[in-house]
Amino acid sequence: MLESITPAAHFPLQFLKLPATIAHRLALVGDAAHGVHPLAGQGVNLGFGDADALATVLAARGPVADAGAPLLLERYARRRAEPVLAMQAVTDGLARLFGASAPWLASLRNIGLAAVDRLPLVKRTLAQPALR
Ligand SMILES: Cc1cc2nc3c(=O)[nH]c(=O)nc-3n(C[C@H](O)[C@H](O)[C@H](O)COP(=O)(O)OP(=O)(O)OC[C@H]3O[C@@H](n4cnc5c(N)ncnc54)[C@H](O)[C@@H]3O)c2cc1C
Repeated sequence: MLESITPAAHFPLQFLKLPATIAHRLALVGDAAHGVHPLAGQGVNLGFGDADALATVLAARGPVADAGAPLLLERYARRRAEPVLAMQAVTDGLARLFGASAPWLASLRNIGLAAVDRLPLVKRTLAQPALR
C-alpha cells in the first residue's frame, strides 16, 4: 500500500529538465526524472527506458557489489541523457511549432510536414524512436 507523505502538488505538462537525475544512493526514473509534453505519448516509454537502463547497469555491475555506488548511478545517468533529451527536444519543438499562431510559421510547418510525408525514409527515421 502507498501512503502520501507530502501534500499533493501539480505541475504543467511540458519540457522539464532536472539539473541531475541521480544523487547520493538515488536514481530517479519516469516522470520523476524528466517531463515531456504528452502530445507524442512518450512519457511511459521514456520511463520504461529508464527502468531498462537501470536494470541493465545493475545486472552488469560485475565486481561493483554496491548497487548504490556512484559509478553505477553515473553510468545510468549517462545512458539516459541522450535519448531523454532527444525526445524532449522533439516533443517540445512540436508543441512550440503547433502552438505558434504566426501565419508564415503555419505555412512553413505545412510545407515541412508535406515534404516529410513524401520521403518514406525520413518519415521512418523520425518515427523510429517513438515506435521503439
Ligand atoms: C493527459 C496525459 C496523456 C498521456 N498520454 C500518454 C501516452 O499516450 N503514452 C505515454 O507513454 N505516456 C502518456 N502520458 C504520460 C504518462 O502518463 C506518464 O509519463 C507516466 O504515467 C509516468 O509514470 P511514472 O510511474 O513515472 O509516474 P506516475 O504515473 O505519475 O506515478 C507516480 C505515482 O506516485 C504517486 N505519488 C506522487 N507523490 C507521492 C507522495 N508524495 N507519496 C506517495 N505517492 C506519491 C502518484 O500518486 C502516482 O501514483 C500522458 C500523460 C498525461 C497527463
